[in-house]
Amino acid sequence: MAQLRQNAGTTRPRKTSGPKLNNKRIYGAILKAKIIINMISCMIFKTKSPKETQKIAADIARKIVKSKPQKHACVFALEGELGAGKTTFIQGFAKALKIKQKITSPTFVLMRHYKLRTGNPEKASGVKPRGGHATLRGPLGFTGWKLLIHIDAFRLKNWHDLISLGIKDIFANPENIVLIEWAERVRPILPQKRTRIHIDHLEKNARKITITEK
Ligand code: ADP
Ligand code: MG
Repeated sequence: MAQLRQNAGTTRPRKTSGPKLNNKRIYGAILKAKIIINMISCMIFKTKSPKETQKIAADIARKIVKSKPQKHACVFALEGELGAGKTTFIQGFAKALKIKQKITSPTFVLMRHYKLRTGNPEKASGVKPRGGHATLRGPLGFTGWKLLIHIDAFRLKNWHDLISLGIKDIFANPENIVLIEWAERVRPILPQKRTRIHIDHLEKNARKITITEK
């Protein structure tokens, strides 16, 4: 150990004449970096009650609406068996966004829309927007989100059916927050950039929630 320390101070970096970087090596390095980034953006939670699951969802919801909308809708793909807690998660998410209606699994209706309140910019921030520039900031700091869309693909026979419901326009609109239950059934239609919420049923009231950003 002491020897290692001693050598560390005296050894000069040597010039190496190793093999030149080729494309394969560069792609390999990029792939490794991507895997590491994916690992960083994966979070795992363990909850012991529906309330705890809803609190995690509420924290995510508040964070999302405070952020600026991107080029496309913000999409959450919820996966997990029946009774895992997907609807429970969405209830916590919607409550945090002050949606008054009770969120249930839309058993016969495939899709439900909920308006997001965007409030008065002056009232909300206490600061008059300069030059009349209308940045919509609601009581929660909304910056342009308009709709929360809840989709339940449980009864869907084919993911193509979502196309006739205008799913492409829904995904293309940056004012939308879309939460999809049984997302694994409609994977081919999902946008590449999405957040996957996978819920595992561990025990009666215990759930494992894995959140991965793609
Ligand atoms: P899904 O939509 O995935 O079919 P639901 O959310 O409708 O599931 O149902 C989940 C059920 O499990 C609810 O009755 C809920 O109260 C219960 N539950 C018990 N513990 C938890 C937990 N830790 N997280 C979420 N739901 C839980
Ligand atoms: Mg459900």
